[in-house]
Amino acid sequence: MARVPEEVVDQIRDGAPIEDVVGEFVRLKKAGTNYKGLCPFHDEKTPSFNVNPRMGIYKCFGCGAGGNVFQFLMQHEGMTFPEALSRLAKRQGIDLSRYEDASEGSPRKPDARGKMLAANRLAADFYKAALESSPGERGRKYLEERGVTAEAITRFRIGFAPPRWDALIKAAGKRGVSPDDLAEAGLAVRREDGSGHYDRFRDRIMFPIRNHEGEIVGFGGRSLPDSDSRHATAKYVNSPDTALFKKGRTLYGFHEGRESIREKKRALVTEGYFDVISLWEHGFREAVAPLGTALTAEHIRSLRAHAEELVFVFDPDAAGLAASERAGSVAGRMLGLAGAPDLLVASDVLRKDFIDRDGAGAVRLKVVNLPEGRDVDALLVENGAEDFARLLSSAEGILENTVQTAMAGIAPGASQAEKIEAVQRLLPILGTCHRSVQDQYLALLEDQLGIPYPTLTAMVRRLLAENARESSPRREEKKVDLLGENLGRPKVEMDALQLLLMRPELASEAPDGLMTDPAVNEVLSLMKSGDAASLTAASIADRLESPAARALVVELAVVEVEPEDVEAELFDCIERLKERRRRKMEEDLMKRIEQTRKEEGDDSPEIWKLLERKNALLRERQRTASPR
Ligand SMILES: [Zn+2]
Repeated sequence: MARVPEEVVDQIRDGAPIEDVVGEFVRLKKAGTNYKGLCPFHDEKTPSFNVNPRMGIYKCFGCGAGGNVFQFLMQHEGMTFPEALSRLAKRQGIDLSRYEDASEGSPRKPDARGKMLAANRLAADFYKAALESSPGERGRKYLEERGVTAEAITRFRIGFAPPRWDALIKAAGKRGVSPDDLAEAGLAVRREDGSGHYDRFRDRIMFPIRNHEGEIVGFGGRSLPDSDSRHATAKYVNSPDTALFKKGRTLYGFHEGRESIREKKRALVTEGYFDVISLWEHGFREAVAPLGTALTAEHIRSLRAHAEELVFVFDPDAAGLAASERAGSVAGRMLGLAGAPDLLVASDVLRKDFIDRDGAGAVRLKVVNLPEGRDVDALLVENGAEDFARLLSSAEGILENTVQTAMAGIAPGASQAEKIEAVQRLLPILGTCHRSVQDQYLALLEDQLGIPYPTLTAMVRRLLAENARESSPRREEKKVDLLGENLGRPKVEMDALQLLLMRPELASEAPDGLMTDPAVNEVLSLMKSGDAASLTAASIADRLESPAARALVVELAVVEVEPEDVEAELFDCIERLKERRRRKMEEDLMKRIEQTRKEEGDDSPEIWKLLERKNALLRERQRTASPR
């Protein structure tokens, strides 16, 4: 993309409220005029992530991450600046296409992301048309048998991949998309012998997978019961991870269900495409599913931005149980199921004590117990929505549920070793609980299983120590802490700059040479160089060259301060700065006088000149110090 004019960049940035952009990824809670939430860039249990909507700035006081809306998307979504710019432009219906080809002499770099998105869009259209065509008949029949309605087919853009090796490759070729482009997007596979490519998805129902923005980033394909075995190598095939598609970050149904998740403050986490669609068909539009992976911390971060309750709806078999336990321990650990009492809670009984002490990030984890042998899709189709709603309302907290399942699994007369093994399965979840909750359950286990309490607590301690070891490298990964650097800067200059960020047009009132800190001077000269009145902290952050100066602006801007009179306080700072400068000049003069006296003796004419200047400074100080 050619350079987009600064005023257009300003317009795009200022038209995208930072609390909305960040709010898509982080659940923010109002705290004064700022918003607070759990930082999406590092693991924490109490919110140190701040968003200042007036300044258009976010900043985490835990890991130091900070910036404006563009920098948020760049940091969080791994976008380049042009990508962040065009995403926010798109939201506001601003057309950037006219800047696309007017490159300044340099050849336009192909945008890999854009190419992959285009390939995925093309594929989705192709699969959709194939489902509607006559070879798609088998696919339509299968969907009908599974109770998928036309409405759901449209909403989820469900399609069909024909049972051929090159159907998509040929169709794409006609539209100028090469097999290599398809392979890049995970839609085609290069033959190992180098003799070309073949379609990855063949003879399958196709489910496009969207990212937060609704862009198609990958596909899931389900074979048909009568699929040719050459094509139906596995029941489910997903797109591989690409630069665009990360399974560990993407949830099926998230884009389609986000509004409902926000509304109901709840997400149903289930296992597959058909579960999500079936729940959606039956009015539970807040359903999502991970894509052939266990639920990750990233998934939970996306969900907790909108939901206060995660309900696991997994198959009532061993794999489903294991999945819910694993999800529970991942979620528990990262949400601090208990470590911090202001966070998450296992059961309704415990909820009132531990949940929502200050709101941000609190999430309840629950499990729906499906009747044995019935997955959620089958249950909905056979018993209807009301039956499921009843199960949902009786969903138990994950801790209670796990404990009960484990206890129920212990046969009468089980050996001590078998009992210990059962307890071991509870530990990952139990270990994330608040001490007082843990104690209750440990007492219960001692009582019912006859395992001595000290043995149990030792097991928990060992697990916690292991967890701490595992998670410590993460802590070291965190970005440079800029707070330390900024702490060393002169206080009065910080005060002045903070006030100037509120009213950049006052920068002209600050005489040159008053500030000593290079980062402060960089910001100040930027403010003085242009149309200061139109600058904001967020636009300054875009224009600064040095990372240190940007970090300084971000940190000063995010802090919530409401001075009664910005101008008066600024003038006060400027007076203090002037005073500081005079004192410094006096000191320098005194040194020079001393020096000259030593070298040239008391009667040197040079000394008289220096003394004269010192007196002038003294008079000036007395004048300004006298009451106005
Ligand atoms: Zn952070």
